[in-house]
Amino acid sequence: MALILAGVPTLLQHNHQIHTQPEDYRPERCPHCGKHGLWCHGSYTRKANRRGLERNTEAPVSIPRYRCPACDGTCSSLPEAVPPRRHYLWDVQQQVVFLRLSGLSLNKVAQRLAPSRHTMRRWWQRLKQRFTLDASLLRSHCPALGRSTTFAEFWRACLAQMRLSEAMLVLHRSGAAIP
Ligand SMILES: [Zn+2]
Repeated sequence: MALILAGVPTLLQHNHQIHTQPEDYRPERCPHCGKHGLWCHGSYTRKANRRGLERNTEAPVSIPRYRCPACDGTCSSLPEAVPPRRHYLWDVQQQVVFLRLSGLSLNKVAQRLAPSRHTMRRWWQRLKQRFTLDASLLRSHCPALGRSTTFAEFWRACLAQMRLSEAMLVLHRSGAAIP
C-alpha cells in the first residue's frame, strides 16, 4: 500500500528532502490498522521516466518503506511527483495535457515529447472518461473551478491553480483511484 506525501512535486525536491528530512515521509498512522509508531523498513528503488523534460531520462527514485509493529503490515510513502502506477512522472503527463489543451493534435504533441503517441492517447482518453467524477471532487476542494463547465475549460482552469500532481493528490485523498 502506498501513501502519498504532499508538497514534493519534483524529483529534485524529493531527492533533497529524502536525505535532509526523511521523517517527513513517515506516515503518522498505519494504513492497515490505524496505529501510530511505524518503523522504517528500508526502501525500494523505482524508475521514473522524465523523458520530454530532461536528458537524464531514467532517474532511479528511492521510495521509503515502513512496517507497523502492531499488525506487521507494510507500506511505502511516495512523493507527490511520482504516480503510483504510471512510469512517467506527473510533470511529463502535465506537459502532454497542457499541449493538448492548447489545441495541438496528438501527432504534433508526439513530435515534441517522448512518450509514444499510443501512451499519450491512453492518458488523454482516460482523463476524459473520468472527467465527471474528477471535476466534482476537485470542485469540492476548489469551488472556483465550478464555473468551468467543459472538459477543456475545466482542466485549463484547474492547471492554472495547481499542478497535475496536486490535482491527482486531491483525487487520491477523496478516495478516487489514480493511475
Ligand atoms: Zn498496523
